[in-house]
Amino acid sequence: MTTESTPDYLLKFNPIALSHFIVIHGMALFAFFPFAFSWSAVALMFFMYWLTASIGICLGYHRYLTHRGFTLPKWLAYFVVFCGTLACQNGPIKWVGQHRIHHAGSDTIEDPHSAEKGFWWSHVTWMLFNHSKFDDKKILSDYTKDFSNDKFYKFLDKYFILIQVVLGLIFLQIGGFPWVVWGIFVRLVIAYHSTWLVNSAAHTFGYVTFPLKDDLSTNCWWVGLLAWGEGWHNNHHAFPKSARHGLRPWEIDMTWWALCFLEKLGLAKDIKVAKLLPNPAHEKNESSEPAFIGKIVTQAA
Ligand SMILES: [Zn+2]
Ligand SMILES: [Zn+2]
Repeated sequence: MTTESTPDYLLKFNPIALSHFIVIHGMALFAFFPFAFSWSAVALMFFMYWLTASIGICLGYHRYLTHRGFTLPKWLAYFVVFCGTLACQNGPIKWVGQHRIHHAGSDTIEDPHSAEKGFWWSHVTWMLFNHSKFDDKKILSDYTKDFSNDKFYKFLDKYFILIQVVLGLIFLQIGGFPWVVWGIFVRLVIAYHSTWLVNSAAHTFGYVTFPLKDDLSTNCWWVGLLAWGEGWHNNHHAFPKSARHGLRPWEIDMTWWALCFLEKLGLAKDIKVAKLLPNPAHEKNESSEPAFIGKIVTQAA
């Protein structure tokens, strides 16, 4: 339950956002036609889904840029954030700004995609409206002061749609129409919904390891698989800085695997990880207490 008085935020329907989603989903339907099929196009779709969603959004935009769970050399930081831009979910300044706002007021009126307002609102409907706070350039820039003056990130923020169009033209040149349908549109639909499920399903279904006030985040195994480890979202809300989201043996976290690989190469450093510890209060048979508590440690190199 939230107790704050109603702020005078304004919502304004955004027809451009609606058209964007209709075009992307509509074009993806060509995947059902044989003339838009090739095995290389399907392989391209899977590769680009991994590169843009796991490496780009989860590792680049989210665990690195938003929460600073580890450090990277500048060239690699630019590369992973560029991969995030290829997921066409806004540029890094807007994406990170809105996500930091989400953490600051999860599932309250201060959350851009509060699950308190229902599954579909948190999944997609929130993006069909311009919000007087959450879409305000000055506010988003204030939330991203640590990098919003960087010229490269500013460029990505401004031109993320154009960059997608150029990528589509490159695919058209190399693999023809099937590469555009699968490499752009089918891939975007799958990556969009898997990301959005983190905001909807992983604030609705699943189990809670760390009960949090006003916060509906859950650990949801199937979102964990679809969204490259981001479905262990209650762990993440409890320890946003942890670069590892899957904390128990069955909590598969494929983005964490990629980060471990970068660490082995000596590229990812100073990695922050949440460790699960038994809760002494729970062990004293206080069943109202959660079984685990956690703490953030720096991963040994
Ligand atoms: Zn969340
Ligand atoms: Zn986060």
